[in-house]
Amino acid sequence: MVDYIGVDDVARLIRSIGPGEFIERLAGEILADYRRWDEFEKSARVASHSAVGVIELMPTTDGKLYSFKYVNGHPQNTAAGLLTVTAFGVLADVATGYPLLLSELTVTTALRTAATSALAARLLARPAPRTMALIGNGAQSEFQAIAFHRMLGIRELRLYDVDRAATAKLERNLAAIEALADLSCVRAASAADACRGADIVTTVTADKRNAVILTPPMLRPGMHVNAVGGDCPGKTELHPDVLRSPHARVVVEYAPQSRVEGEIQQMPPDYPVIELAAIAAGRTPGRAAESDLTIFDSVGFALEDYSALRFLHSLLEEGHIERRRIDLVPQLGDPKDLFGGTLGAGAVRRRLRKSA
Ligand code: NAD
Repeated sequence: MVDYIGVDDVARLIRSIGPGEFIERLAGEILADYRRWDEFEKSARVASHSAVGVIELMPTTDGKLYSFKYVNGHPQNTAAGLLTVTAFGVLADVATGYPLLLSELTVTTALRTAATSALAARLLARPAPRTMALIGNGAQSEFQAIAFHRMLGIRELRLYDVDRAATAKLERNLAAIEALADLSCVRAASAADACRGADIVTTVTADKRNAVILTPPMLRPGMHVNAVGGDCPGKTELHPDVLRSPHARVVVEYAPQSRVEGEIQQMPPDYPVIELAAIAAGRTPGRAAESDLTIFDSVGFALEDYSALRFLHSLLEEGHIERRRIDLVPQLGDPKDLFGGTLGAGAVRRRLRKSA
């Protein structure tokens, strides 16, 4: 039998732990895994593109546990009442190849993306940031707000979305969270207005094109940019001149994947980037100078989903999530008798007895 974690299980867990606490603990797990980067088998994700979106598979293993995530990105879905991003994933035992856990990863992707963003910002932003521009106020945005409030000490958000209803939804959701009582939200008139006075700028928009959310005049040396929404070939958020700035210091998750999917797809193949793992392990400083314009060019990497699945499974084993099991894999008396143990007359009689 395989453990199963559904959307309601994750929602119940997060309500009981608190989203800020969960994100911070998950960030610790992600950091620990980035610190053992060399132990992981790494590959760019396998993407299947269509005119309206992408479906991706994201595998990795550390030789003990194997994980993969199925995830889509369809920016036009919301107009039809569907999410832009949905996901689920599997954690498996390398020794036997047996799946251990099948889990929802839609909510968990938002949590792990926010955790990774805040983790990177802790390593890259100047100390004690107070104000963050949050551009793109859709499904991921609350998670980013909670993570940066908890882990960076952000106390003012400057919100902008082309869809005013999305900003109103974000404000409503944040206002209902007790732990965010000291967080103030200001509605900005444009992306440029949102960036005014911000220490950190988060872009988390969804548009399947080379969008230009940030241009050089909106940014100052010393700022940190957390660019989350550009994560596919032909889907970016930064004007290429932002990356050409002499102050730019660009950090990516896994360079071979980011050169195809990230903001840096707009740059030549030898454009200099630093991998997050090198900073996490202390081999390279995060911010080298006060005047650096640090840019976390986030696309999402399989290791972060591995960390999330492993963390969820450990919480389940500790009893924080109610254990539910599904019969994804046959249980057989004789492993060579797959037919008899599943379709044979004896097995059918046993099933009928069970369901009676
Ligand atoms: P969503 O569709 O729920 O929200 C996106 C928001 O962006 C919408 O409210 C939309 O109105 C707004 N928007 C679009 N164009 C804009 C513009 N020019 N200026 C301001 N706002 C604009 O999507 P979501 O689930 O919140 O995901 C946001 C993005 O993050 C997607 O592109 C998704 O692929 C990406 N994402 C990245 C990671 C990662 O690890 N880097 C993880 C999850 C999602």
